[in-house]
Amino acid sequence: MVDQRDLAVNSIVLEDPPLDFAPIPPASSQLVVFDFDWSLADQDTDRWVHEVLSPRLRIEFVEKKPTMQFTDMCAYLLEELHKEGHSREALEDALRSMPMHPGMLRGVRTLQKEHKGTDFLLLSNSNEVYIGTILPSKGLTEPPLFKEIVTNPAQWEPNGLLRLRRRISPDGPQHTCTVGCSANMCKGDELDAYKERHASSKYERIIYVGDGGNDYCPVKRLGPNDIAFVRRNRGLAKRILEEGGIQCQVRYWSGAWEAEQLLLLLRAQS
Ligand SMILES: [Mg+2]
Ligand SMILES: [Zn+2]
Repeated sequence: MVDQRDLAVNSIVLEDPPLDFAPIPPASSQLVVFDFDWSLADQDTDRWVHEVLSPRLRIEFVEKKPTMQFTDMCAYLLEELHKEGHSREALEDALRSMPMHPGMLRGVRTLQKEHKGTDFLLLSNSNEVYIGTILPSKGLTEPPLFKEIVTNPAQWEPNGLLRLRRRISPDGPQHTCTVGCSANMCKGDELDAYKERHASSKYERIIYVGDGGNDYCPVKRLGPNDIAFVRRNRGLAKRILEEGGIQCQVRYWSGAWEAEQLLLLLRAQS
C-alpha cells in the first residue's frame, strides 16, 4: 500500500509561492524551448485522452507503465482504445478539450510579438498528431508559434486507429545517452541537433521551459548563460535537487500565471 501521508507531504503544491520575478538581462537573440505536457499545456496528452474516453485504459496505463517502454505502451493503449470503438473524431475532440492556460498563451504570444529575435522550439515526448490537433485549437498555428516541432511520429490509419511510433525506431541504431532518457528519444541529443541545424541563428542564450524527468538531460547540457524555467513539484525539479550537475540558471514556477511573468521578462532587448 502507498503511504498516503508521505505522498501528500511530498507533493505539496504551493498555490501562492514566494514571488520571484527579478529581471533577466536583455538579449538580442534567444531560443525558447518548450516541453509540451504540463509545460506549455496544463495537462498530459497521453494520460488525458484515456481520462476523457476510457477510465479503464487510464488505470491500465498506471499498471503497465513500470514494465513497458513508454511510447510502446502509449501505442498499445491507442490500439485498445480503437478496439473499444472510440472514433478518430472522439479522440480529436478529447485533445481539443485539453487545458492550456490563458496566461501561458498570452505569455508566449506577447514575447513572440515584442522580441523579434526570439525563436520557439517544441521538444516533446507526446506525438505529432496530438500536438498537431491541439496547437491549432489554441490558436498557436496562425501565425505559427514554433519554428520546429520535434516529437514522436504518429498517423491515422484509414480505419481510425492512431498508429504511434518511437522517434528512434527500435530496429535501427539507438541513442547513447546515459542520463536516463527513454529509448524512443534523447531530448538532449534533439536539442543539440536543432542547434546544429540552426547554427547560423547564433542564439545568445537558450531558455528551456520544462517539468518532467526527461527534461533533465537537455537542461544538463545548457551553459551558464542559459536559463531553465522549471515547474515545481515535478520530476525535473526533483532531479535537479537530487542529482545536481546543472550549469544553467534556474527559475521556478508552479502555475502558468507565474511562467507568463517569467516569459515577459525575456522581452528585454539589447
Ligand atoms: Mg512535460
Ligand atoms: Zn538524453
